[in-house]
Amino acid sequence: MRILLLSAHIDDADIGCGGSVARYSYEGNEIYYAVFTLNEESLPDGLPKDIMVKELGEATRILGIRPSNLIIKKYPVRRFPQFRQEILEDMVQMSKEISPNLVFMPSKFDTHQDHAVMASEGFRAFKMSSILGYEMPWNNLSFESSAFISLKAEYVDRKIKALNCYKSQKLREVELGREPTGLKDITSWARFRGRQIRVEYAEAFHVLRWIIR
Ligand SMILES: [Zn+2]
Repeated sequence: MRILLLSAHIDDADIGCGGSVARYSYEGNEIYYAVFTLNEESLPDGLPKDIMVKELGEATRILGIRPSNLIIKKYPVRRFPQFRQEILEDMVQMSKEISPNLVFMPSKFDTHQDHAVMASEGFRAFKMSSILGYEMPWNNLSFESSAFISLKAEYVDRKIKALNCYKSQKLREVELGREPTGLKDITSWARFRGRQIRVEYAEAFHVLRWIIR
């Protein structure tokens, strides 16, 4: 399969589906990662401008994604609603060039304005692909868990290792007085989703479209 991950910000897809990505890449599928902003303007002082690209490169390598399959767009963070058309056109282009069998993207339940644009434009752009919306518990009012992907412990470990690469994001969260995105919660979240389908670990998704050819 060709699988495309759509991520508004650099660690969204890692959080939402990093375990499943580790599994799919281990199983020999070709994975593409498209991120739509680097959020360079809110980097903590003293960090080099290219640190995000480096962190993204390290994290995606851990998840088994080739550097040539990374796509970086630079829309201004929190202003995606003003760029809906451009974002849609980028996605239509990706749909033509990559022709993914499966797309992972933010879910329709996500309240962050950038994630919401990704979910609605992604649904329009990838008409020929199966689409799973990933879970972001920190942003969702509710979530319809209509699909589960079971994971081995090693895939959850890879997800945590990938998330640990985003040191600049963590510094920023600390600067803002917030606890860095619940890394210590990743295992218990995967365990909880796993228990729902009686396996050790899992990630849950909302099915936006499922195509069986
Ligand atoms: Zn985000």
